[in-house]
Amino acid sequence: MKVFHGIGVSLGIAIGKAYLVDRDRISVSRKSITDEEVKEEIARFKRAVATSKDQLQDIRKKLSLDIGEEHGYILDSHLMILDDKMLVNGAIEMIKGQMVNAEYALKEVIGRFMSIFDGMGDEYLKERKGDIEHVGERILRNLSGKALDSVSDLPEEAVVIAHDLAPSDTFQMRKDRVMAFVTDIGSSTSHTAIMARSLEMPAVVGLEVISREVSTGDPIIVDGNQGVVVVNPDQATFLEYLERQRRYKYFEKELVKISKLPARTQDGHEVHLAANLEIPEDVEGMQEHGAKGIGLFRTEFLFMNRKDLPSEEEHFLACKKIVEKMEPYHVIARTFDLGGDKIPVPMPIKGETNPALGLRAVRFSLLRREIFKVQLRGILRASAYGDIRLMYPMISGVSELRQANQVVHEAMDELRREKIPFNEDIKIGVMIEIPSAAVTADLIAKEADFFSVGTNDLIQYAMAIDRLNEHVAYLYEPLHPAVLRFLKMIVEAGHKAGIPVGMCGEMAGEPLYSLVLLGLGFDELSMNQYSIPRMKKLFRQSEMKEAARLTEKAIGLPTAEEARKLVVDYMAGRFPEDIGADGKLMY
Ligand code: PEP
Ligand code: MG
Repeated sequence: MKVFHGIGVSLGIAIGKAYLVDRDRISVSRKSITDEEVKEEIARFKRAVATSKDQLQDIRKKLSLDIGEEHGYILDSHLMILDDKMLVNGAIEMIKGQMVNAEYALKEVIGRFMSIFDGMGDEYLKERKGDIEHVGERILRNLSGKALDSVSDLPEEAVVIAHDLAPSDTFQMRKDRVMAFVTDIGSSTSHTAIMARSLEMPAVVGLEVISREVSTGDPIIVDGNQGVVVVNPDQATFLEYLERQRRYKYFEKELVKISKLPARTQDGHEVHLAANLEIPEDVEGMQEHGAKGIGLFRTEFLFMNRKDLPSEEEHFLACKKIVEKMEPYHVIARTFDLGGDKIPVPMPIKGETNPALGLRAVRFSLLRREIFKVQLRGILRASAYGDIRLMYPMISGVSELRQANQVVHEAMDELRREKIPFNEDIKIGVMIEIPSAAVTADLIAKEADFFSVGTNDLIQYAMAIDRLNEHVAYLYEPLHPAVLRFLKMIVEAGHKAGIPVGMCGEMAGEPLYSLVLLGLGFDELSMNQYSIPRMKKLFRQSEMKEAARLTEKAIGLPTAEEARKLVVDYMAGRFPEDIGADGKLMY
């Protein structure tokens, strides 16, 4: 039995079988071969190409059955590359001509293709580069005998183990029966982790070496509550976790009963609780979990796991469905926040040294206005069907807000000309998640209809820590005096201008901070839907007065450690049934 400790990023306990997903690139070195070996080397290469073709045809068949024939074309382009004479014959010529191993020859030929494509400047052809790399990687793996793993098509009860996973991988896992996942790297506010929470899938990240220590088929326990992973558990441990799992499930059921009750404090203050939404289908059941609206619809997930860009019609239909489902409450559609850790296939934004500081979110939208406008038109059209609101991510100041508004006005003009209905008074809000926006919140507030604080990014940028990096995750501290001052400043600026201020970062759904959030005066808290009853349970036992007192005290402290101690001690003492002495939830 081996026990690993990491960062628990999604609650729940899973007991299953490990399934290792190998995402490392195969390294290739040049090896000389003799005259006699050339023939066998070419035969080996041809076998690898044939195997790759069989595998792709298999996947194509499964894909067509699962999600429809129209999606099979994704793989047609890969199959066509395998038939490409230049690629296959080019590699064979090189094996013969330079008397080198097949892996090296293939890598060289692919390299040549890449430089030709780089010089073309055509967006469509640039996309094809990724396809060729993908196919090349598959042939290389078949040459080396290492299977190419995908997170789709997994065995039942699989617990996925990987060095790292992209948010698009997590997205894919929902379709399969993945029970949980664990990774070597990662942090609690990565989109991979956020996605796990929205799928209710236990997850532990930042385990450093786990992908090297576990083999496929190993019995494994993932405790997302405590951030613990046990491989090959002994019988006593297995039974202990079985009991913990049973208890956790029982509390989950009990909590759902609270969902319908109002989020009202003992002294009558009502807190508006909304849900964050990543995948449109998840809107089903959100009201049952107690969500009074969607405080953040991360629309960029409409761009994931596909080869083309979503059309205006797709944006429109997705938003319309959500708005109708959430009636009579509002839905805040955040315009796509692409870049950072969310890079869709059709728009590779590659090669940035600092993706978090690069071409992300509204910066990308303003650069590619034609893509932005397609989405805006879709959202605007949905506004004719209910209370949908627009929100821009990563606004750095008034100037970007005005530029984004300009594109919205262009989209509105077009719709008016085309006589397509939309809500002329649609509310347009701003995410406050960059320090420059936080300190100019008073100026932005004059030109915005509402604010929503994105603490995941605000803390990342305020503390200068990469939110994906587990080594600096310890500095991710919502109770740091800098963060608390920012939050206070933003709420005050919004309220002074008469606009509502919400929070949709992960801090908003963390029970430990419930009183502080109340004390800071947020009008809306938007969180993963499963956190709503947990937060509600605490609000219903609280008083506004005590929240204000605690918050004032916390803001007055000079260090994050002192503020944390104050809040943890207070919360554990005040809610002993719910919060433990370590500040974690008891269930
Ligand atoms: C945030 O930054 O807090 C936020 C809600 O947006 P995202 O996590 O998608 O960046
Ligand atoms: Mg953000």
